[in-house]
Amino acid sequence: MNQRQVRMFRKLLKERRQELLDEADRTVGGMSNTGDNFPDPTDRASLEGNRNLLLRIRDRERKLLVKIDEAMERLEDGTYGKCESCGGPIGVERLKARPVTTFCIECKESQEEGEKRPGARR
Ligand SMILES: [Zn+2]
Repeated sequence: MNQRQVRMFRKLLKERRQELLDEADRTVGGMSNTGDNFPDPTDRASLEGNRNLLLRIRDRERKLLVKIDEAMERLEDGTYGKCESCGGPIGVERLKARPVTTFCIECKESQEEGEKRPGARR
């Protein structure tokens, strides 16, 4: 991966990171000002459902944030874009679509194949 690509992915990851943080901010803001707006018990129940949903989203966002941070570290130490499984290069197009990925498409596909049908015929 050349310097130009490193810079491009650094920018891409920073943008993703900022988007996630903005999103998390909005989620927290939305949670704190809904308190007195739903006095009806039925509405409160559905509000609880929404809250659980928001918490799940935030959990997913938090995990993605960690992945973005790890990807940025890999960019700095020069291992970004290298497949964790086979050590081969991950295609730049694949990285653009999924900048936090650590597997090349071949390894990812064979992994998913294994998850779907453990022990199945090839
Ligand atoms: Zn691989």
